[in-house]
Amino acid sequence: MHTYESLLAAVTTTSGETREVLDPATGERIGSVRVDGTAELDRAVERARAAQPEWAALTDDERVAVLGRVADAIEASSDALAELLSREQGKPLNGPNARFEVGACVSWLRATAATPLPVEVVVDDGENYAELHYRPIGTVGVITPWNWPMMIAIWQIAPSLRMGNTVVAKPSEYTTLSGLALAAVMNEALPEGVLEVVAGDGSLGAELVKNPAFGKIMFTGSTATGKKIMASSADNLARLTLELGGNDAGIVLPDVDPAAIAEGLFWGAFINTGQTCAAMKRLYVHDDVYDAVCEALAEVASKMPMGRGLDEQNVLGPLQNRMQWEVVNRLVEAAKSSGARVLLGGQPDSEASGHFYPTTLVADIDDANPLVQEEQFGPALPIIRYSDVEEAIRMANAVDVGLGASVWSADRAKAREIAARLEAGTVWINSHGGVHPMIPFGGVKQSGFGLEFGAEGLKSVAVPQIING
Ligand code: NDP
Repeated sequence: MHTYESLLAAVTTTSGETREVLDPATGERIGSVRVDGTAELDRAVERARAAQPEWAALTDDERVAVLGRVADAIEASSDALAELLSREQGKPLNGPNARFEVGACVSWLRATAATPLPVEVVVDDGENYAELHYRPIGTVGVITPWNWPMMIAIWQIAPSLRMGNTVVAKPSEYTTLSGLALAAVMNEALPEGVLEVVAGDGSLGAELVKNPAFGKIMFTGSTATGKKIMASSADNLARLTLELGGNDAGIVLPDVDPAAIAEGLFWGAFINTGQTCAAMKRLYVHDDVYDAVCEALAEVASKMPMGRGLDEQNVLGPLQNRMQWEVVNRLVEAAKSSGARVLLGGQPDSEASGHFYPTTLVADIDDANPLVQEEQFGPALPIIRYSDVEEAIRMANAVDVGLGASVWSADRAKAREIAARLEAGTVWINSHGGVHPMIPFGGVKQSGFGLEFGAEGLKSVAVPQIING
């Protein structure tokens, strides 16, 4: 069991090539991390490959038992992990943030370990007999982002290990401490070499993807990088799961009770201070309820405290990095200069020490505005007025990504009809963005491909084999 200090000491490096890690809320130094190069990557790959046959030779029950012990280890150090995550990523301890994320790591591991994947008899007609098995791929390369650095790592690592693969993981350069700390705790319960971590700075991701040792790459991040990964893994025909974010639309129908849905709308858009792949990033509201929804949402949003993650009262934090702050600021400025109406926020404090951007709601904005068309990935929500639901569906579908979407209505049947016409991997009804370890999750269009979670998630980190006869 770790304290924050012992965990930080376990992942801090002071000799060799290192990089400073700064608190995004204050700019203070938290620690320093090692910067691995190609030689370290090659060694990690070698260790993971060497460990794979023995790991795959365990029975499924044995691997499940090990994953249970990994979950126990994370649970035992959950306070330390949550504090480190909060300091490095910026997300508050409370609300659907750091403690929630570490708790989700534990529950996802347990659910992934418990998911049945029986051998499937595909034909048994007296003449033919064929079974479908799922075998390990070998070694899986995992590249994780900075928004949910621990939970997304577990989403990729847990099913890979369960299916008999070993893993080389590369955390985002923005949240390396979180990735290293999670792996250090997991490795207390894993055999050596089963989970390796490399901590790069700028070009290691591309090197990892090109390495022919990987039969599979799992990546969560931007569409632009996803395309590069697809191109550079082509030579090895590595299998891919790409979760590339989106620009999720929410459609509010005229029959809603605005006050009743306001909090759900808020968290759908602002979870993790908006830095969430499947957060609601554009809200289409029917004219009949437009003003009431705007008012109710602004009231909820104005009461949500934003500040340093370690202060217990906060539920919103800073943006994790300056790059993302600049994106949000540029898009809100574009909205303001177009004459859109700022209901809340929109004026960052230029004196603030961290990457804070205030909770921002922008009403009466044109659908063509960059704040609507581009992914803001931060705490700024455009609210677009519509009068014909056909128009709302058209606008919702008129982007080249499709991770999630939502429909908000008192009429579930009507909402489901609209849901079926939305181009998104998941459509939620009267909520947005909730994920569950047994419910498959993945995008369409340029949000990527491949399903995570549940039995589908296990199949995606395995190779099918037919035994015929
Ligand atoms: P990127 O999606 O560009 O991902 C960066 C990660 O990918 C790093 O680990 C990097 O490693 C690796 N990488 C970069 N180039 C390659 C390559 N050619 N081959 C393999 N790996 C590569 O994220 P950013 O952090 O730059 O964020 C950009 C935008 O992505 C955000 O503004 C946001 O819109 C979106 N995003 C989406 C997320 C989601 O959940 N879907 C999460 C985070 C961001 P290295 O530096 O070592 O090369």
